[in-house]
Amino acid sequence: MSEARDLPQSGFCERLQLTNHLDVAEWMFEPGMLFQSSATWWGDRGNRLRPHEGLDLCLFRTSTDRVASLLPGSLIPALYNGEVVRIIDDFLGRTIFVRHRQYGSAGRDLYTVYGHVEPRAALSAGVFVNGGEGIAHLATRGEGETGPPPHLHLTASWITREVDALQLGWKLMGRQKEVSLIDPLSLIGCRYALLHRQI
Ligand SMILES: [Zn+2]
Repeated sequence: MSEARDLPQSGFCERLQLTNHLDVAEWMFEPGMLFQSSATWWGDRGNRLRPHEGLDLCLFRTSTDRVASLLPGSLIPALYNGEVVRIIDDFLGRTIFVRHRQYGSAGRDLYTVYGHVEPRAALSAGVFVNGGEGIAHLATRGEGETGPPPHLHLTASWITREVDALQLGWKLMGRQKEVSLIDPLSLIGCRYALLHRQI
């Protein structure tokens, strides 16, 4: 079942790079950054509590062959036109759930979810955003904390319409009855390389 096949490419990576003046030759993904990975990519590279519900964007290679990171404060665009339906705290910042009703069918809607960010001022549930519009800034890691460096966690998913906005959260994303996850790499139009080991 190719659930993402009918969705348009979002132009997300191009917009992210243009908005933040990033010189990206290609994004780089360690195994633990990828969709459905059971590993982490920080600390001792231990296992995740459950398979990764999305994609982590952090590292990229520049045109001069340097390895660089997405910096805290980077402006994060929405993938598609949509409505912000919920904002919750996460362990590095906040998470924004955006619903894209225009792609919905068969009793479910497309959602994109942006984790470890600080929402733009006045962004709240009920606000409509355009695809490519900056909706948040990448969160900073708090001082003295261990865990992953600043990065964007991106999730794309079909969610059934029985789910109320107040139920949207990380616990829900593991429930296959209501949630059908999509590999974000298929939607964001990034040039990328897969790394087989850590940098
Ligand atoms: Zn993640």
